[in-house]
Amino acid sequence: MDKTKRRAVVAGNWKMNKTAAEAAALIGEIAAAVGTPGCDVVVCPPFVALSAVLDAAAGTPIAVGAQNVHYEESGAFTGEVAPGMLTALGVQYAIVGHSERRQYFAETDETVNLRTRAALAAGLCAIVCVGENLAQREQGVTVDLVRMQTKIALQGVQEAELARLILAYEPVWAIGTGRTATAAQAGQVCGAIRAQLAELYGSAAADGVPVLYGGSMNAANAAELLAEADVDGGLIGGASLKAADFAAIVQAAGG
Ligand code: PEP
Repeated sequence: MDKTKRRAVVAGNWKMNKTAAEAAALIGEIAAAVGTPGCDVVVCPPFVALSAVLDAAAGTPIAVGAQNVHYEESGAFTGEVAPGMLTALGVQYAIVGHSERRQYFAETDETVNLRTRAALAAGLCAIVCVGENLAQREQGVTVDLVRMQTKIALQGVQEAELARLILAYEPVWAIGTGRTATAAQAGQVCGAIRAQLAELYGSAAADGVPVLYGGSMNAANAAELLAEADVDGGLIGGASLKAADFAAIVQAAGG
């Protein structure tokens, strides 16, 4: 696969960490640490910190994303945030289907599909997460499962929308555990995701979609993971909360 056909992306998922003030301060540190990056850089703070982070990131190369997005534009959906509310703020990205949403908040492949379609229709870049748990890996169904998750997430997504689509392979057993997939495992599954994209949209279109790896990626292991032909960047949890570590991953992705 030819990586020059697509951009590298490093996205930080801050999860439920940082007040608005703390988040704005972290943006200052990250902006100073990344300088002029050689890849796209995204941070995804909690909803209540989005405005402060957008203000702090203005004039820097850092783009801002949400950690979730609903599929309706308004209505009786207590606690949810609509795509248009995000774009009206200036948010450009939304994570969809993170395993913590699937595990703790009843997210399914079907709601991931609804959220993906709504995010793309609103003009957001959707970072769609897929990945197996440990039992599924041990059962040998990882590639089948990830291809199925990808296929369902993209039902009804038009080829023209792929320019704003990013996939993230996040093995559940590697998230927040300190246990990272080997570079070969990450490369194999990211390649399988691209093969699924090619089956749906053709290989030229699939070659343009960034596929990220996420799961305990850090400053020490990023370069090896990112050297894989089908790994185009990272979705970073814990290490994205430390400016120097996050910047080292950005450097590894864009260098
Ligand atoms: C994540 O939450 O998407 C993630 C990859 O977390 P961590 O890097 O902490 O494993």
